[in-house]
Amino acid sequence: MQSKTRFNLGLKACVAAALLAGGLAGVSAPAVAQQSKFITVGTGGIVGVYYPLGGAICRFVNANRKDHGLRCTVESTGGSVFNINAVMAGDMDIGFAQSDTQYYAMTGANAFKDKPQPKLRALFSVYPELLTLVARQDANIKTFADIKGKRVNIGDPGSGTRGTTELVMAALNIKKEDLKLASELKFVEMAPALCDNKIDAFTFVAGHPNAIFQEAATSCASNIATVVGPGVDKLVKDNPFYAKANVPGKMYKGTDNAQATFGVLATIVASADLPEQTAYIITKAVFDNLDDFKKLHPAVANITKEQMLEGNTVPFHPGAIKYFKEKGLMK
Ligand code: GLU
Repeated sequence: MQSKTRFNLGLKACVAAALLAGGLAGVSAPAVAQQSKFITVGTGGIVGVYYPLGGAICRFVNANRKDHGLRCTVESTGGSVFNINAVMAGDMDIGFAQSDTQYYAMTGANAFKDKPQPKLRALFSVYPELLTLVARQDANIKTFADIKGKRVNIGDPGSGTRGTTELVMAALNIKKEDLKLASELKFVEMAPALCDNKIDAFTFVAGHPNAIFQEAATSCASNIATVVGPGVDKLVKDNPFYAKANVPGKMYKGTDNAQATFGVLATIVASADLPEQTAYIITKAVFDNLDDFKKLHPAVANITKEQMLEGNTVPFHPGAIKYFKEKGLMK
């Protein structure tokens, strides 16, 4: 995976976010909660990457409960779009979200058409997620354009995967009607449906390696296909939060060569209404325990603190800024 390219692309957006956030620094900080207060982390399907990492974040937060009184729990959800809606509605405190979904929420585009979320804030970014197309080998899908006429899972409506998949379909001029079936299965159902021959392919925007792709690779004859073409090139060129990357060869059975695609960053978001102290405690819990965090999933094995400030398009939450400044990660 060309992680360097990807992170470099995130820089511009990061600077913009930092500048924007500077103007918001006056948001008041409530006193530290004295009694136990529940906070909920919106993740994804339990077999994805968001869910186990959300669990890790909660373990780090809960380890210091006697100091701050926060009791952190994770919830399995449909993914990025669901999580942003939930944090903005006040139903959850923080959530995982793809960096492109973050941008579309802020600007009121795609899944957030007519309902922009100007109070969406970022705590930090976490790791690269690649739009990955997995197909049954007998479906003969070698590249995204081959999905025409096939049975394809285009994503749970609450996922970021769904939005990114629809953008690629539009970029490659593939309409829903061009598919034999466009299903909306949950993450946990995708690999079983593929191997039960209910669908020919599914897309998933996720960190590598992960259990869903492993399951598809080991339970039946499947392969990862490329996501390429002039339309994809334009999508990546026009949007700083997209970057080209490869799914490495030999990572999954059935796919010996690297498969070109593009990716986003997984990020942690909250509402500007989340108390500054809560955002600070969560940010501190992850950054102070980063060495342990990196050991918990291969998708985060190579991340660095500096990179975790890159790639967000919405302003940082004041609680995250407080921690970054305290540690000299931000001026
Ligand atoms: N990026 C995915 C989505 O929001 C979720 C990935 C995961 O659960 O690990 O669609």
